[in-house]
Formats: sequence, C-alpha cells, structure tokens
Amino acid sequence: MIPSILPTYNRAPLSFVKGQGAWLTEADGRRFLDLGAGIAVNALGHAHPALIKALSDQAQDLWHVSNLYRIPQQEALADRLVEHTFADTVFFTNSGTEACELAVKMARKYWHDKGQPQRTDILTFEGAFHGRSSAGIAAAGSEKMTAGFGPLLPGFVHLPWGDHEALRHAITDTVGAILIEPVQGEGGIRPLPDQCLKGLRDVCDEHGLLLILDEVQCGMGRTGKLFAHEWAGIDPDIMMVAKGIGGGFPLGAVLATATAASGMVAGTHGSTYGGNPLGCAVGCAVMDIVTDPRFLSEINRKAGLLRQKLESLVAAHPDTFEEVRGTGLMLGLKCKRLNTDLVAAGYAAEILTVPAGDNVLRLLPPLTISDEDIRIAIDRLDRAASSLSAP
Ligand SMILES: *Cc1c(COP(=O)(O)O)cnc(C)c1O
Repeated sequence: MIPSILPTYNRAPLSFVKGQGAWLTEADGRRFLDLGAGIAVNALGHAHPALIKALSDQAQDLWHVSNLYRIPQQEALADRLVEHTFADTVFFTNSGTEACELAVKMARKYWHDKGQPQRTDILTFEGAFHGRSSAGIAAAGSEKMTAGFGPLLPGFVHLPWGDHEALRHAITDTVGAILIEPVQGEGGIRPLPDQCLKGLRDVCDEHGLLLILDEVQCGMGRTGKLFAHEWAGIDPDIMMVAKGIGGGFPLGAVLATATAASGMVAGTHGSTYGGNPLGCAVGCAVMDIVTDPRFLSEINRKAGLLRQKLESLVAAHPDTFEEVRGTGLMLGLKCKRLNTDLVAAGYAAEILTVPAGDNVLRLLPPLTISDEDIRIAIDRLDRAASSLSAP
C-alpha cells in the first residue's frame, strides 16, 4: 500500500523538533550537529534571531498580495541584489528549479527577439544538477533523473566535465547559452577551476553566447564570496539563486543583465507566490548579514580551519577517505567506503552529513558555525569513520 506521503524519498528514521545554530534536537532528545544545513539552505543556522524577527514582524503585517501590486519588500531585496552583483534586474521564484525554468526561457527569448530563434540549444555538463522540473532534468540529462519521464524538453547538449575539445566542437549556430554550476553540488562537490570559468566567459564572448551560472547551492556566501564566480573575476549574463538566500524560507531568484533580460517584458513570465512579502523580508535580513565583509572573511577563516582538520581526518583514515574536495564551506570527502554507510555512521555519532554523487560525503555547515562546533564535528566524523573500520 502506498503511504500517505508519496514515497519519492529514502528518509532517515530521524525527526527533529528544534534547531539552534548548527544543532538539531531529535524527538528523543539527542542533539545532532548539522553539517547539512537542510542542503545548504540554513545558511545562518537554525533559529537565527534576525531571521525570526524579520519573518515574525512581516507575518504581523502582510503575507501575500500577488504580483498584481508593488511589493516593497521585493523591491528592497532586488535593490540589494543589484547593488551587490553583476545584475541589473531580478525575478523572484520559490525554488531553484523554478529559477532554472526562467533562466532557460530568458535565454531562448533573448535569441528569439534578436532574430536568431534557431539558437535554442543550451550546453550543460555531466554531473550537473539544476532541479527536478522538466527543464531541470532535461538540462542535467542523467539517466537517474530522466528515466521514465520522456519525452524530455529538447534543446540541451550534454558535455563531459572538463573536456575543452568537446566544448569547442559543440558550439554550433543552434547554441545560445552555456549553463554551469561554478561548484557542482549534487554531482560530488566539484569546483570548476577559476581559469575554466574565465575560459567559458571568453568562449561566450567570442561566440556571443549567454553564460548562465547556477549558484543555487554555491552562492550566498557558501564559498567565502557572496557568489562563487567572483573568485574567477568574471560576470555571468544570467544567474540562478535559491537555497541560502531564504535562510530556510522557500525563496529563489534569477539575476540578469539588462541585455540578457531584454525579452522578458510584461506578460512573458510570472509566479503567484514568487517574491511574496514574507520570503523577501527574510531574504533582506539574510542579505544584510551575508554581504558584510567581516561575515565573509569569517567564512574564509573557518573554511581554512575546517579544511585543515578534514585533511588530518583523511590522513588518519586512509582506508575510508580518499581526499578533501571543494571550496569555502562547501566541502566534500571522497570516500573509499560507500558514502551512504558513512552518512548512516554519522547518524549513530550524532552528526548530519549529506551524500553526493561520485561517492562523496558532503559537508555544508551553516556559515555561522563556531570554531568549537568545527572541533566537535571533526571528533564525531572521526568516530563515524572509526565505527566503519572497527573489526
Ligand atoms: C538544489 C539545487 C537546485 C534545485 O533547487 P530546488 O529549490 O530544489 O528546486 C538547482 N541547482 C542546484 C545547483 C541545486 O543545488
């Protein structure tokens, strides 16, 4: 018999009743250290006072009016995003995959209005994840996500990761854009080297293509800059954001240059809930904290500390771990045992991690994690790894 909840998830037998900072309390009272942060969503940890205040203040006044009217909280958040990024304009969604939908539509409309409607193809990369909508799964293209869901949305060309020759050959006169995560998350915490991102920007400039970055997971301070592409010193034309921007409230956005967005005039796109007052009030509070240069430099300091300790952990467990990968507080441990066994061993040691592709154990702590909690995390990961190697 099918359960009352559609069984599309393999859930751990844990249910949390309270969160505080990097800690979650299970219904039975055990306290778990949360290095998953709701898959990079709880960027400021659980129950951050500024977010509680922003949400509860707004909840007293107004929840929803629809985009038939001006929404001051939405305008304030859009202004902040424009001020701190390459973007000239922003559209708000409720999730990452909705941001993907608009990014794809925007790129196609751009070429349509430029009189080159044949440029519908978007180049994407092996290991990519862009969400679970029809466009998202077609963009990623993996068998695991697409099997049984055909016919898939056409117009995506899937390239191997890091193959420059394949990229050159794929650029034809039906290609309009390149879509890539600066750091692959679900694919196994694979950062694109800065020079490759620069190279992609050059390729796009040379052929007039749009560069679409998916910063849903790696954005909002996760890598130690507000957005990951800043490390490479380049700007995209279109960028997808979600996860951390709402700090736990469902919120996403598409950021774009005026040129890339030029086709998106009144009536071409919409969302009933997107950019509602509640989400945008919280988003403003998140932006105020994450854009503070001292907050970003603390992320970099803590990322260095965590990484150094993880390198020692890998050295102490050569039969369990192969290497540390990733950047900032978006780190992964490439495993020699099954990553899901390590996640389960982590549950027993009261630490939460997230499995990712390529047999990687993903670590996405709240950006606010303390030095003391980093020390506890390493102790518990050590305990989890030891429990697997015990005879
Ligand atoms: C999570 C994620 C998405 C999808 O976001 P949803 O909010 O789950 O729809 C898209 N792209 C990347 C890189 C992600 O990590």
